[in-house]
Amino acid sequence: MERDDIDTVGVVGAGTMGSGIAQVAAVNGYRVVMRDVEERFVDSGVDAIEKSLDRFVSRGELNQSAAESARERIEGTTDLTALGEADLVVEAVTEALSVKQSVFADLADVCDPETVLATNTSTLSITSIASAVDRPERVVGLHFMNPVPVMAGVEVVVGEQTSRSTADLAHAFAAELEKETWEADDRPGFVVNRVLMPWINEGIRAYDEGVAAKGDVDRGLRLGTNVPMGPLELADHIGLDVVFESSETLHDELGDRYKPAYLLKRKVEAGDLGKKTGSGFYEYD
Ligand code: NAD
Repeated sequence: MERDDIDTVGVVGAGTMGSGIAQVAAVNGYRVVMRDVEERFVDSGVDAIEKSLDRFVSRGELNQSAAESARERIEGTTDLTALGEADLVVEAVTEALSVKQSVFADLADVCDPETVLATNTSTLSITSIASAVDRPERVVGLHFMNPVPVMAGVEVVVGEQTSRSTADLAHAFAAELEKETWEADDRPGFVVNRVLMPWINEGIRAYDEGVAAKGDVDRGLRLGTNVPMGPLELADHIGLDVVFESSETLHDELGDRYKPAYLLKRKVEAGDLGKKTGSGFYEYD
């Protein structure tokens, strides 16, 4: 399969990442089928896309008719079999291996054997996810960054059995979405999260241990290293549950230096998950 053969993109999961991926694919001319398990999740994903498209229009970065055409290209559904029309599927469901494996087993049932099955996992093994299907050579990591419509890069992750042609197609597809790519081997956290998660956890510990006030941890890293967000702000933006799950995976695989910060665990237990719940390390409207 060549990139020109991709007409319809399937997206599994209509949350933060799934809705962003669906939006970017539709803006770049693909028909999109976005599936979630319940109608309310589909509706909330579609709503997020509409609001995001409106923001692009109001900033003059997209014209009204292009935004409307993009919206019309997206079909939200709870029907698993609708994904059978896709030439490439990106899975963006909850970060849990058993959930992802069951999604991939379902995809293998409904999709053509040639369909590329990509996962947006932050830290889980592409090879383990691919073990759920009879065509592991068609499985690849397409690790989009948050927020998908804004971030410039996508990490292509090559599993043990991913074929070169599948990896090449993943790079070519991301390029069609106007993203730059880099490639990583299927090791825990790939490149970005392997480096990012300990950075975030160390920022949380520095605050928790009284090294600096939380605002100063963030300001120090912003002003001192020229990053747009400090570790606590970035954790709230990603979602503290996602940071915690990702850190736990890295901890299990790579040992103690990846142990999640104590305060991160407490916040997740308390349901303070960052921007998405209105409260994390900071408060949000
Ligand atoms: P989210 O919680 O916002 O969305 C997940 C969605 O998946 C939910 O709407 C849920 O209902 C749906 N879902 C669960 N099981 C499903 C199934 N069987 N079929 C269809 N839909 C199902 O999560 P998110 O932040 O969008 O993260 C999704 C994936 O992307 C995770 O693997 C995460 O690690 C990865 N990721 C997240 C970020 C981030 O900053 N949030 C960045 C890069 C990668």
